[in-house]
Amino acid sequence: MPGTICAIATPPGVGGVAVVRVSGPEAFAIAARVFVPLHRKKSVLDARGYTALFGHYRLDGRPMDETVALFFRAPHSYTGEDVVELSVHGGTAMADGLIEALLTAGAVPAAPGEFTRRALENGRIGLVEAEAVMAAISAEGRQGAALAGAALDGRLGGRIAAIRDALQAVAAHLAAWVDYPEEDVPALAPDALKQTLGQQKKKLDALIEESRAGAVLRHGVDCVLTGRPNVGKSTLLNLLAGFDRAIVTPVAGTTRDVLEQAVVLQPAGIRLNVFDTAGLRAETDDAIEAEGVRRGREKFAQAGLVLAVFDAGAPLEAEDLALAQSCAGRAALAVLNKRDLVGSAAELAEKTNALTPYFAKVLPLCALEDTALPALSAAVAALLGTARLDPGAAVLCSRRQLAAALAARDALGEALAAAEGGFGLDAVAVCLADAQRALADLTGEDAPAATIDAVFRDFCVGK
Ligand code: GDP
Repeated sequence: MPGTICAIATPPGVGGVAVVRVSGPEAFAIAARVFVPLHRKKSVLDARGYTALFGHYRLDGRPMDETVALFFRAPHSYTGEDVVELSVHGGTAMADGLIEALLTAGAVPAAPGEFTRRALENGRIGLVEAEAVMAAISAEGRQGAALAGAALDGRLGGRIAAIRDALQAVAAHLAAWVDYPEEDVPALAPDALKQTLGQQKKKLDALIEESRAGAVLRHGVDCVLTGRPNVGKSTLLNLLAGFDRAIVTPVAGTTRDVLEQAVVLQPAGIRLNVFDTAGLRAETDDAIEAEGVRRGREKFAQAGLVLAVFDAGAPLEAEDLALAQSCAGRAALAVLNKRDLVGSAAELAEKTNALTPYFAKVLPLCALEDTALPALSAAVAALLGTARLDPGAAVLCSRRQLAAALAARDALGEALAAAEGGFGLDAVAVCLADAQRALADLTGEDAPAATIDAVFRDFCVGK
């Protein structure tokens, strides 16, 4: 029988309220030894689920803090077990005292994520939802939290189950056809087979594609601002940050080091960790600036988004073209800044055309104008795929899920290739079985203990 666990569920530090959670078969008995209701006639042991009592808790026989107790009866609780949640005054002292009292009364400390793990073991949630709990806790920004919410309430599980069920139906038919030829099972029409496999593969493609945009919304993305000195990088950084973060001067080479600034790009709601790098000049006599250039290059190589800035008011130089070429194949946006200084439309078109082959988009802009920020936001959202993401979409919320989805998609691709290449239905069936296994990994059905351990390793105590 599992023990009765307890842990502080709220973050450490000063705050109005701290919540301590107790879950397990002895939750009510242990709470009754620690918590004293204000109305002496009320009894913790008799408390019904979804009710609350006010009173105080005791430690070593002494009355301690005022306490609100919330009761949940199995199986109608987060963990599926009997649960008592005790709220005391915030800060750590009162909650620590309460934990001590509960441990003395027979509870054991909860391991990280143990409440959620019990919910999983008791069938309250699946592995996909357990991971969504973690994603919801660690989400950066409201949109990231909304995405985690869609996974949390089972919508993601539903999307995956729909693919799994469609594949199961095909697999069952194939198995009957291959195993019992004498039973006269009608063969699947090749076109119908290819169509079903193709449709399900498309659904997996969409899940994979959206998961990348979802990760951007949940965790943000490292973004490098790069370009020759004086093209307007620092001006753009200040625009993104909403205040003067970098020193802007008309002297080339002002930005001497890599400046980092976390901003939330509005209205797209994407968190960018912006690194404003020193200009890309290779030659400089200044040792500090040379170090800045080196660090800038390193950041450039690692960034998930590159904003390469060019001066629309001056001729494109060899250095500009070298930068453009190094952006090919990256998630990179060319910002053709100082649009206000361009001589003619033809000149702007010429510069745009010269940069277009290397970038997902070339955005002419004047960083000094109010329209610059929304234009930049829209271009970044389109580039990172968040613009196409439905805010209520249920997207994959962990690397483990993505890896399983990729494996399922690839196996399904092979099944489709086998069907199209006329390799025979047993070859299709083998690939299909691989895809089904990968999908089972994705949902976590029959997941081995090691997989579950790995999921809960990153959880915090109290969740
Ligand atoms: P950095 O060296 O790339 O960081 O460039 P800065 O941001 O320091 O900008 C260099 C100069 O260009 C400053 O005087 C800015 O005010 C000016 N500047 C930046 N953006 C624009 C723009 O869109 N139009 C005009 N006319 N000047 C700009």
